[in-house]
Amino acid sequence: MQAHAPLPRLAAATADAPLRVSILGATGSIGASTIDLLKRDKSRYAVEAVCANGNAEALAEHARTLGARFAAVADPTRYRELKNALSGSGIEAAAGPEAVSEAAVRPADWVMAAISGASGLEPTLAAVKLGRTVALANKECLVCAGALFMRQAAASGATVLPADSEHNAVFQALASGRREDVRQIVITASGGPFRTFSKEALRTVTREQALKHPNWSMGQKITIDSATMMNKGLELIEAHHLFNASAADLGVLVHPQSIIHGLVEFNDGTVIAALAVPDMCGPIAHCLAWPDRIDAAVARLDLARIGTLSFEAPDLDRFPALALAIQAMETGEGAPTVLNAANEVAVAEFLALRLSFMGIPALVAATLEGAARRGLLREPDTVEAALLLDRTARALARDLLPEIAAKAS
Ligand code: NDP
Ligand code: MG
Repeated sequence: MQAHAPLPRLAAATADAPLRVSILGATGSIGASTIDLLKRDKSRYAVEAVCANGNAEALAEHARTLGARFAAVADPTRYRELKNALSGSGIEAAAGPEAVSEAAVRPADWVMAAISGASGLEPTLAAVKLGRTVALANKECLVCAGALFMRQAAASGATVLPADSEHNAVFQALASGRREDVRQIVITASGGPFRTFSKEALRTVTREQALKHPNWSMGQKITIDSATMMNKGLELIEAHHLFNASAADLGVLVHPQSIIHGLVEFNDGTVIAALAVPDMCGPIAHCLAWPDRIDAAVARLDLARIGTLSFEAPDLDRFPALALAIQAMETGEGAPTVLNAANEVAVAEFLALRLSFMGIPALVAATLEGAARRGLLREPDTVEAALLLDRTARALARDLLPEIAAKAS
């Protein structure tokens, strides 16, 4: 496998020279874990900017506790609420998508990219273009425009550190050998709440069942993606771009205990795996301190107590979302952008109780077929082209929704 250029080293944060940090998506699940870590040693970090979508009250509270300089909500109708909640704090308030992009480019050494969905693309890319160190949780932006994203990172010299647990594990395992000696990269999947369900049973699962992940506590979108296993498909595409690995060099292994997060097989037959209890504070702390390490206050791994680690091959028949993502990765060009957009629409419709669980992959498949028929699957080579294809695919998915919802009910 071909290597990317080596990543530059970030100076270690100290009380004398604190690391300047911004958090995109500060009110979400990853945002909360990041804030927990920063609060553990406040003197080492200076928070520049935080942003959210519409949750102005929680954002203002975080901005105050962290002593941030700038807080932005994407939803312009929440500006007044944010401004009032920050009054007297000296923290600058702003609203609208441009304000979110401003949060991304304010002077910071380290940016946590934890907005959910493709709406994270523009702000994250803005930080990347400035050559910043970006801890990347927002996998959808790599799925939507991965080639472009990695090209921009290479051009600007940005350091993209994988915050997603599997990719963080692979990143750590890759450090034990040369890239050209890597035979395969494997990411693990818990299998989600429906791992053992029959095809028949999957037809009638409810939103509440799908929102109960067995091992991880996460935002709603990724929790549903884990239940359909689309999350693992998005993660394969994420790994394809992050590690410059072809589809044939990547694998998925179902591992219900979520203790091993990623494995790298070298050509001498050695497999290096990274293990940790399932807690996002671990990978985030790794990105925050990289290449050093800090105490993340994560529970110690007690393998004797866990006793058994088990593994299965993924079942692409029961989990067609994973098959669709693999296909989109192999097709390349605009297919992953369309897959991601259709999936975002489908998950939102499922959460709104307008689409069944198995309707999610059905809508994604129909949108991909429709986009291919219309000749829309060309590689988006600018951010504008990626966002246009994203919008077109969403419109197509919404057009197809009534028919698919009726069929899949
Ligand atoms: P959440 O839904 O919990 O949080 C999403 C965050 O993004 C919120 O702060 C939300 O603000 C903000 N947001 C949404 N849209 C916008 C926008 N247009 N502009 C600015 N901010 C916006 O998601 P998670 O924290 O679970 O996930 C975040 C990302 O990290 C996703 O891409 C996910 O796939 C990835 N990830 C998550 C993991 C996890 O354990 N949670 C693990 C690995 C990856 P508001 O509160 O106002 O809506
Ligand atoms: Mg993950």
